[in-house]
Amino acid sequence: MINKQVVARGLLGLARGMSSMKWPAFGYARARSLQDVWRLQSEHGDGARLIAGGQTLLATLAFRLSEPTVLIDITQVPELRGVSVEAGTLRIGALTRHAELGRDELIARHAPLLREAVPYIAHPAIRNRGTIGGSLAYADPAAELPACVVALGATLVLASAAGERRVRAEDFFTGLLETALRGGELITAVEVPIATAATRSTIAEVARRSGDYAMAGLAVHLSLGSNGQVAAPRLVYFGVGNGPVLAKAAGAALAGRRLGAESIAAVQAALAGDLDPPSDLHGPPEMKRHLARVLTGRALSRFLPATEVAA
Ligand SMILES: Cc1cc2nc3c(=O)[nH]c(=O)nc-3n(C[C@H](O)[C@H](O)[C@H](O)COP(=O)(O)OP(=O)(O)OC[C@H]3O[C@@H](n4cnc5c(N)ncnc54)[C@H](O)[C@@H]3O)c2cc1C
Repeated sequence: MINKQVVARGLLGLARGMSSMKWPAFGYARARSLQDVWRLQSEHGDGARLIAGGQTLLATLAFRLSEPTVLIDITQVPELRGVSVEAGTLRIGALTRHAELGRDELIARHAPLLREAVPYIAHPAIRNRGTIGGSLAYADPAAELPACVVALGATLVLASAAGERRVRAEDFFTGLLETALRGGELITAVEVPIATAATRSTIAEVARRSGDYAMAGLAVHLSLGSNGQVAAPRLVYFGVGNGPVLAKAAGAALAGRRLGAESIAAVQAALAGDLDPPSDLHGPPEMKRHLARVLTGRALSRFLPATEVAA
């Protein structure tokens, strides 16, 4: 059994250049299809672990926080690839790398929040290998993509030898580094409702250094009417809880109101009912709450007409 707090903080340490131990010995098998994945999983049992970009998993091996007997490489499984639009939904294959999220035209048009999030994720070398499926499955509470998919109202497509099922992103993250994934299941894709002309979204975060995990962050998605009235706001905070936090009280304080200084202040006040951040390496709960309020003001002000921002 691994200590999850230690894993999460260990990775932060790694990110700051701490030295690491040697990896344990393990086998390696490359799957070429989902059928291959099911076959390899049944051959190797509980000791098997999927590897996608390897950007998190290899760090946990280096810390001996995970000791699989065999890694099943899923990077050559075609069913996990590709970005497409089908029946009003953007489908993003689980193997889509962070860097691809940042340059794909369909994502830029239909889910611009994901493109905006990419520069905040680690560094180019990590973004060139890390995948959206790996980031969601690992469920780091300070990671950007889990918060974005919750803000977007996305659905995760999960598959196992027993079949396929769909889980709303907001139900997928169940605790610190915990998800709704069952044994033998993997994420095959993320389905995102496509943006309309009224959609507004943005991401804001505070990190100690560019590329570090966020001390606190916020992904916002809402609809803005021509009269400035807000509908369906989804404010999702990260780095302030055990997973992405969909702020329901803050959303209720904004829904149906005209976006402006007054409604933004109401959202900031309502946050007290949504956030109960734990202390962590970055500081105490009150500091996190303060950062969340500041980020709320910054993010929502981006949707105001220039005249109101100046005022
Ligand atoms: C120094 C450093 C800094 C980082 N900074 C950030 C940051 O600022 N923000 C951020 O969000 N991330 C950050 N990361 C993490 C990075 O984004 C990882 O790429 C990502 O979290 C995992 O993706 P991966 O494809 O590499 O997954 P892997 O490392 O291959 O796998 C991670 C876990 O997910 C499982 N998995 C992989 N794919 C699937 C799937 N399709 N279905 C089910 N389970 C699956 C694996 O079995 C494993 O348990 C950082 C990583 C490092 C090393």
